[in-house]
Amino acid sequence: MKKIKKIAVMTSGGDAPGMNAAIRSVVRACAFYNVECVGIYRGYQGMIDGDFKTFSARSVNNIIQKGGTILKSARSLEFRTKEGRKKAFSKLKKENVDGLVVIGGDGSFTGAVIFNKEFNFPIIGIPGTIDNDIYGTTHTLGYDTALNTVVESIDKIRDTASSHNRLFFVEVMGRDAGFIALNAGIGAGAEEILIPEEDLGLERLLQSLQKSRRAGKSSSIVVVAEGDKTGKNVFELADYVEKNLPEYEVRVSVLGHMQRGGSPTCFDRVLASRLGVKSVELLLDGKTNLMVGLINNEVVTTVLEKAIEGKHIVNTELLRVSDIITI
Ligand code: ATP
Repeated sequence: MKKIKKIAVMTSGGDAPGMNAAIRSVVRACAFYNVECVGIYRGYQGMIDGDFKTFSARSVNNIIQKGGTILKSARSLEFRTKEGRKKAFSKLKKENVDGLVVIGGDGSFTGAVIFNKEFNFPIIGIPGTIDNDIYGTTHTLGYDTALNTVVESIDKIRDTASSHNRLFFVEVMGRDAGFIALNAGIGAGAEEILIPEEDLGLERLLQSLQKSRRAGKSSSIVVVAEGDKTGKNVFELADYVEKNLPEYEVRVSVLGHMQRGGSPTCFDRVLASRLGVKSVELLLDGKTNLMVGLINNEVVTTVLEKAIEGKHIVNTELLRVSDIITI
């Protein structure tokens, strides 16, 4: 087994708050263990292009609180080809890199697994995506920050909703997973939460809204994940409710990309710091092809293939809780 003397770190796929804190942690752990560290800019595309920069402990001053990623992120079509990956490997060799930390989502991990198989190159993955849809960790980097951003936004929408007796449909991110919708929905006191994992039906939605009105609520918030199962987008849903319940004045708010931005919460900073240190320690220990994650507040590892294939299931018990507390 070759001794690891130089580690590269990169961010790939969609950016998420906490990525900078993870970069900082990887760079500082390398300095602590006396191994060299390089940052790769623009994900796999930067690897192919040799867009590397040597990082010292001081290169990552003042970034723990910053959203986005100082290393930039990119989606690389070229890395999906064997030729592209060969180029990437030769650039890593030329730079004398012995191990790689990839911060990203399941697409980035798929690329990592293929690369590891082809070139036997040591790689550790850190889950970074606001969607929280990765198996092997209860929290991905950026998820907690996104939750807090969404809750804060809905609190503001609630102010205007209650001033005008309005019903608001608020669309949040989550094409395949309802983690953000479900947890932020409860946190913001939403009357209804529509998620991809469960189809409660349009009839049930109307009944629930009628019940809210009868119960004397002056405003209502329905949180809708992008990928909800009603078969209608958030605007169509609003039209449908307005037609069927004319007593409601309905408005739509799509939160969009603001959910990805902002300064990471303390939780995300601590998580990023723990996962960054662990990923460096694993590489130095001769480990590869693993994802680091958090379960029961312990840092654990999952084989990368399993992290990609496994499904992180939302806790639908939360829907029941939501039903009870929105009476
Ligand atoms: P997010 O969850 O935020 O979308 P992600 O990591 O899943 O993040 P992707 O765009 O799916 O984002 O993947 C990032 C990059 O990983 C791709 O641009 C590509 O370079 C690489 N990648 C993804 N799938 C493969 C694959 N099958 N083979 C080689 N490379 C891949």
